[in-house]
Amino acid sequence: MAAIPIPACPSDVTMAPDEPLKALCHKCRGEMIYVTSLPHPRSPEKMMRTTFVCRACNQTRNYSLSIPMAEAYAAASAPKRAS
Ligand SMILES: [Zn+2]
Repeated sequence: MAAIPIPACPSDVTMAPDEPLKALCHKCRGEMIYVTSLPHPRSPEKMMRTTFVCRACNQTRNYSLSIPMAEAYAAASAPKRAS
């Protein structure tokens, strides 16, 4: 019996770590804005559930990211501070 690949849930997509720090809406392909991240309920020690919002679709989307990825998105979206 052949294994059937489980389709990824659109609201719970794992991103590849080598992708640029840009979350693209899979519906309109627009760039989404990082909102927040919380420990992932299934593996809070390794994953973060990260929320982005697409302004064009006016919709938030959740992605499961590794903690370093979530932190990188948070840092990339943080307002630049003059130092
Ligand atoms: Zn969109």
